[in-house]
Amino acid sequence: MAELTEEQKILLNNLKRVVKEQIEPAASETDKTGAFDWKVASLFWDLGLLQIMLPEEYGGWPQNPAHTLCLSIEEIAKACASSALLLIIQGVGSFPLIHAGNDEQKKKYFPMISHQRNLVAYLVTEPGAGSDVHAITSSARQSDESYILNGRKVFATNGAVAGLYSVLAKTGERELSFFIVERDLEGISIGRIEDKCGFRGSNTAEVILEDVVVPLANLLGKAGEGFKIAMSDFDMSRPTVAALALGLAEGALDYTIKYARERCTFGKPLIEHQAIQFILAEACTLIEASRGLMEKAAFAFDSGKRNTKIASMAKYFCSDAAMKITTDMVQVLGGYGYVKDHPIERMFRDAKLTQIFEGANQIQKMIIGREISRK
Ligand SMILES: Cc1cc2nc3c(=O)[nH]c(=O)nc-3n(C[C@H](O)[C@H](O)[C@H](O)COP(=O)(O)OP(=O)(O)OC[C@H]3O[C@@H](n4cnc5c(N)ncnc54)[C@H](O)[C@@H]3O)c2cc1C
Repeated sequence: MAELTEEQKILLNNLKRVVKEQIEPAASETDKTGAFDWKVASLFWDLGLLQIMLPEEYGGWPQNPAHTLCLSIEEIAKACASSALLLIIQGVGSFPLIHAGNDEQKKKYFPMISHQRNLVAYLVTEPGAGSDVHAITSSARQSDESYILNGRKVFATNGAVAGLYSVLAKTGERELSFFIVERDLEGISIGRIEDKCGFRGSNTAEVILEDVVVPLANLLGKAGEGFKIAMSDFDMSRPTVAALALGLAEGALDYTIKYARERCTFGKPLIEHQAIQFILAEACTLIEASRGLMEKAAFAFDSGKRNTKIASMAKYFCSDAAMKITTDMVQVLGGYGYVKDHPIERMFRDAKLTQIFEGANQIQKMIIGREISRK
């Protein structure tokens, strides 16, 4: 593990305590009700966690922000993956503004994020376009002083609770562009809220755009740069998904080790059976390998190096590891791993999403393959 800075040590020590006292006890209930927990969001604002990727004057981290974001996500995900996802989406949603916004846009919207505490959702996926981003049909038609946005965005994390949206829409036949859009504009409505298998405490919504009038000034970057911005965003976000998967796996393993010390079969604790030790040994090894990939991908992003290949490796490896580890931990708990008295079944359900979103793992392998074959 990389040497932490003093500031990171302070943040993580504080976060460990907060997670133990406030996040862990609420995780199971949040999973049961499926309700978005504003108390958690407000706690994260207080701790500065939803501002990490912003410039320093808006509460951001001047040094190694992506690594700091990853470490925070990992710590929270050990107890509650839904809560950790808040940090990921805030980073993903704000990225187009941070990366491609002009001075005026930043001056207007950074305070809305940092001081007025708006969540930012990322509206890219549509019913007919998930992995294939170019297949989106949402349109932004230019008319005098504005763009008119129309379309249906699905699976938007925090879609119904965010105050700002980063929206990808077509400004031409093969031209995609990003816009920063205020949620309360006329023509924006919330459609279905997804009833999910896992991440039940995370809001996942359909957002409908009907003749939404957005000022020309809200175009992020130049018209046609949307796809490029989305791909750069992934370079930042994929290490964060790797961190979430890593935290989930660690949380599941820690819980299972304690359980296996107490539960006895055939006259001795489970942990003394070699077959169980082999399962735990494999999980420990996968976790160490996951940490190496996640940290390398995050550091590469922070140092401005091209990290597309390592970010995809980290995302797919850590999420596959989390799925395997949580499945194996259910097995170690036996029947008790399958019921809601223990957090393992929730972690097992949550782990599945990490293999799907921010680019499904098949897409990560396509990217790695493409990067390998580049001259
Ligand atoms: C809970 C949740 C939260 C989400 N949050 C957001 C969000 O905040 N913002 C947002 O924009 N989106 C979000 N998404 C959408 C998510 O990013 C997509 O679901 C994901 O990119 C996959 O797209 P899809 O579901 O349309 O699957 P599809 O693109 O239909 O793919 C289906 C399967 O086929 C595989 N596949 C597709 N093409 C190929 C190929 N060429 N070769 C091999 N295999 C292939 C995929 O890997 C996948 O396994 C979220 C999704 C979920 C479930």
